[in-house]
Amino acid sequence: MMQVIENAIGGKRVVSTSGRKASVYNPATGEQIAELPLSAGGEIDAAIAAAKAAQPEWGNTPPHKRARVMFKFKELLDRHAADLAREISREHGKTHDDALGEVHRGIECVEYACGIPELLKGAFSRNVGPAIDTYSDRQPLGVVAGITPFNFPAMVPMWMYPAAIACGNTFILKPSERDPSAPMLAWDLLMEAGCPDGVLNVVHGDKEAVDHLLDHPDIKAISFVGSTPIAEYVYQRGTRAGKRVQALGGAKNHMVILPDADLDQAADALMGAGFGSAGERCMAISVAVPVGEKTADALIERLRPRVESLKIGPSTDKDAEMGPVVTSMHRDKILGYIDKGVEEGAELVVDGRGFTLQGYEGGYYVGGTLFDRVTPEMTIYKEEIFGPVLSVVRASDYSQAVQMINDHEFGNGTAIFTRDGDAARDFADRIEVGMVGVNVPIPVPVAYHSFGGWKRSLFGDHSIYGPEGVHFYTRLKTVTTRWPAGIKSGAQFTFPTL
Ligand code: NAD
Repeated sequence: MMQVIENAIGGKRVVSTSGRKASVYNPATGEQIAELPLSAGGEIDAAIAAAKAAQPEWGNTPPHKRARVMFKFKELLDRHAADLAREISREHGKTHDDALGEVHRGIECVEYACGIPELLKGAFSRNVGPAIDTYSDRQPLGVVAGITPFNFPAMVPMWMYPAAIACGNTFILKPSERDPSAPMLAWDLLMEAGCPDGVLNVVHGDKEAVDHLLDHPDIKAISFVGSTPIAEYVYQRGTRAGKRVQALGGAKNHMVILPDADLDQAADALMGAGFGSAGERCMAISVAVPVGEKTADALIERLRPRVESLKIGPSTDKDAEMGPVVTSMHRDKILGYIDKGVEEGAELVVDGRGFTLQGYEGGYYVGGTLFDRVTPEMTIYKEEIFGPVLSVVRASDYSQAVQMINDHEFGNGTAIFTRDGDAARDFADRIEVGMVGVNVPIPVPVAYHSFGGWKRSLFGDHSIYGPEGVHFYTRLKTVTTRWPAGIKSGAQFTFPTL
């Protein structure tokens, strides 16, 4: 019997009756492993109603009690980290260790939410006027929703709902259709941790479900993570409906390698950052920018054998360095980009097309691919490929490298490899990118900072998780109080000047 993925509404797992469905595959083998109902409007309404009913009491629950649920949730997540990782790998394809890493980065966000009483503490000013005090604090928005991508099915939802819920909101999660099981297991664990019914609801679906959430008047804010065209659409439609929206989009992350860098270290960093998770990370490095011909030649010399000997396999293979990509459609799209790169004149140093894995011929594998002499006019430079394809763009000097990055439409992450502190500092100052690494190839901020790109990698005013997350999921209220004399002496008709 084919597994049917359920929704989670009002504290219960329920089977969708929409009649529309999608298939979930194991990308390592190409087998269908589950059926995913695509929820209809009525089912989304039921989830919103459950969240709305639960919110007043949850929002009034003292923050330290909400934090206790998070502490317990963290404990359960730690205990079930390997189970979550297995669910992720089975539907996403990433290696087990990589999936475990994702789970731990998600848990960090739950740990941050455990500090919510401190994070929600307001400000108080005594005697702003005679017997007048002012205090400000942050209050929850109500019902909020999150729409998440396939590439981090456990972590990206945890960028959102632990903070949102800890702030006193209730939440509707619409996970990716490709890998829905990890968010369901996390939902089970949150319920086991004592989270009241209706506080977190999970509804599966596609555009229809997303549009319903975007238009519904009871949803006060939307967090979105996914590709740029959809992020822009979600931002525009959501804000038009009067909602607060943060929509994180795609990326093209460059790593600049200066002539003084340790080139072995830089090559190893590029391998992990370019090919880890088969390049399906929004912080993956997809463009290497060596400065100077000599640096470029030496880098290619080091990268070629490393890319040729990449160990590719299913997540059950402990030696695999990367797995398959997520779907056959995505594999074909990546192969199309490689064809296009050749067509447009880039030099194909290592060709990942035609890769097959014995015993896993039905899986969606693409071999590691390396292009040299890519130029900014080429499609493979301009567009996000989201696969195991690394492009080398040679820069004649440092300024050209900086200009190239600043001219790109995306601005999610970037890195510089150098031993020169002055150059690194200048780079961090001038680069128009939200997250910068100095000799750190994937500078994903820890949970007590916030994550967010610039330019067309983020639509909205707030980055995600950390302090920015708490601000996004709350609104400021400032109360001015006067005791006890105040208006006893009669009405005051002039404009109040304290
Ligand atoms: P996607 O945009 O296809 O899907 C993301 C979500 O949007 C899914 O839940 C999906 O159901 C929904 N969706 C898809 N099409 C829609 C439509 N037409 N209308 C409304 N909703 C729609 O992204 P994906 O392929 O799942 O994920 C990969 C992308 O996500 C990459 O571009 C990657 O860079 C990006 N990403 C960005 C970040 C970040 O933090 N900036 C993090 C992870 C992934």
